[in-house]
Amino acid sequence: MNESAELAPIREAVRALCANFPGEYWRRLDRERAYPAEFVAALTKAGFLAALIPEEYGGSGLTMSAAIAIMEEIQASGCNGAACHAQMYTMGTLLRHGSPAQKARYLPAIARGELRLQAFGVTEPSSGTDTLSLRTSAVRDGDHYVVNGQKIWTSRAEHSDLMLLLARTTPREQAKSRTAGLSVFIVDMREAKGHGLTIRPIRTMMNHATTEVFFENMRVPAENIIGNEGEGFRYILSGMNAERILIAAECIGDAKWFIDKAASYAKERVVFGRPIGQNQGVQFPIARSYMGMRAAELMVREAATLYEAGEECGAEANMAKQLAAEASWAAADMCVQTHGGFGFAEEFDIERKFRETRLYTVAPISTNLVLSYIAEHVLGLPRSY
Ligand SMILES: Cc1cc2nc3c(=O)[nH]c(=O)nc-3n(C[C@H](O)[C@H](O)[C@H](O)COP(=O)(O)OP(=O)(O)OC[C@H]3O[C@@H](n4cnc5c(N)ncnc54)[C@H](O)[C@@H]3O)c2cc1C
Repeated sequence: MNESAELAPIREAVRALCANFPGEYWRRLDRERAYPAEFVAALTKAGFLAALIPEEYGGSGLTMSAAIAIMEEIQASGCNGAACHAQMYTMGTLLRHGSPAQKARYLPAIARGELRLQAFGVTEPSSGTDTLSLRTSAVRDGDHYVVNGQKIWTSRAEHSDLMLLLARTTPREQAKSRTAGLSVFIVDMREAKGHGLTIRPIRTMMNHATTEVFFENMRVPAENIIGNEGEGFRYILSGMNAERILIAAECIGDAKWFIDKAASYAKERVVFGRPIGQNQGVQFPIARSYMGMRAAELMVREAATLYEAGEECGAEANMAKQLAAEASWAAADMCVQTHGGFGFAEEFDIERKFRETRLYTVAPISTNLVLSYIAEHVLGLPRSY
């Protein structure tokens, strides 16, 4: 792996922190579907969640490569960064498109860990992936916007102070273009809860703290709009490459965890008088998973390098997310198979990680949507939707 030696201490520090949160901790939370508040607090205190916030706003001003090293190590240690990964990428929208006053107000407090920006409200039940069809509306009323509608899969909303919200400010038929008419707001959920904002948890197959969120005449100060009214879709898109690269790094970390577990077990477990790993039928799937992970890892690094150079990286970020999500899922399946019956036992953590890593070929963007992006934007095939 070609990576700058500067990242080694970061990786080591993340691993040391994660060692305080062993499998038993995650198993208990998983059973209770409880939020890993202590883990997130420890990451925040250590400054890892402020990695991408520039130093002038109190963050560490680290590179995307450093951020992916952090997320990868969290997953490779058996922990789950899904509890907090959004803070790393949602704040990018604020950083790039927020006003100086908004940045000064929110970023230092986020970097200090006093404010949590963990919730990202884009997906809606009726529109799904077709973001431009979303129906949540924000209508200007004096020095406020009045928000009505509903979001779904708004993860961590119960464990965040702020939400980045995408809502329609101009009815679709009156908008200047297909992508115009949507706006991004910072919603202070501490003020809004009970005043037009209702959050309902959704229980899922893994412990993900996801929710559905209802807005009923929720008032948001007009000063909380990010950038220009009607240009929100572009702002959200500009943050998606970072999101995809970071989640791809998490998948690489997961794949490493599964491969490590499987290889160790295959060396130790003796059946028919020899370690199961002596059988090619057991070693080959592990070797294949390793190759898949390494190939995906190269694409993650390629995407991060382009991102850091400020170059266009939409194709690479999408490919990195897809290849890494496929690699982690393949490694998860292989790891269960290698462990036989024990792959299903809670105490091995494999079934938990298996459920957790399944998410990433669906969210934050599903396989077909990545494939159609590559087909259309890289290969020039006709637009399909
Ligand atoms: C646990 C979890 C956490 C999430 N967290 C967040 C969050 O914090 N914030 C947020 O905004 N969203 C979040 N999401 C939403 C997530 O991004 C979406 O679920 C995902 O993008 C897929 O959208 P959908 O569920 O609406 O599927 P749909 O859009 O209904 O699609 C269903 C299936 O049809 C396929 N499909 C749809 N249209 C086409 C087409 N034209 N061609 C080919 N195939 C197509 C899709 O690929 C998919 O497989 C989360 C989801 C989950 C499950």
